[in-house]
This record gives sequence, C-alpha cells and structure tokens, in this order.
Amino acid sequence: MTGHATRFVRGALDLVLPPQCLACDALVRAPGTLCHACWDGSVFISAPLCAACGVPFEFDQAPEALCGACVRERARINRARAVFVYNDVSRNLAIGLKHRDRTHSAPALGRWLARAGR
Ligand SMILES: [Zn+2]
Ligand SMILES: [Zn+2]
Repeated sequence: MTGHATRFVRGALDLVLPPQCLACDALVRAPGTLCHACWDGSVFISAPLCAACGVPFEFDQAPEALCGACVRERARINRARAVFVYNDVSRNLAIGLKHRDRTHSAPALGRWLARAGR
C-alpha cells in the first residue's frame, strides 16, 4: 500500500475504532501509545540500577554494583530487567495484556522490554 493509501485506511479505521491508550480507555492520537496522564504516571527504569535484579538505585553506583538484597542472597538472580516501576499505569498495562485481551499493547511493550534488556 502506498503512504497515501495507508493514511486513508488509518484515518477510516480511526473513525470507526478510535485508538485508545494502551493502559486505560482514553482516546489517543495514534495507536500503540499512552495518553498524557498514563505517560506522566509511567516511571521507566533506567541506570543506575542493580547489575543482578535491576532495581533502580537513587544514586550513581559502579556499573556492576549490587543492591543490598542481591548482596545478601548472592546468585539467586543472575540478571533481570523491568521496563517500569510497578504502579497503577504499569499494573493496568500488565493486567490488560494478560487478562483483558489487550494484545494490541504487545508491540509497544515488546519494544520497551527489548530496550530494557539491552
Ligand atoms: Zn491512559
Ligand atoms: Zn539487586
């Protein structure tokens, strides 16, 4: 399909099925995105973080630093990463995908997970 045809089909679909936020039912401009409120409520996890479990640190640490729990329970987790801090928005995203058939969120969640995993 040409770019013009794709835009026409997208526009027709948006009229019939307007795109909704991935985490709530608010209408958004483009499919596969979060509304402003959910975006503002999202807390993406980024460095500095525990080299093993991925829990974020409040202050800069050495690249392979471990959190207190990982130091105490050595080698229970080799390496784990998460996209978001668990809160209302991330809970709605996870529950929507797992239990409410909101599978349209999978591509965006997959991209965010891949970035966190790198
Ligand atoms: Zn939302
Ligand atoms: Zn840890």
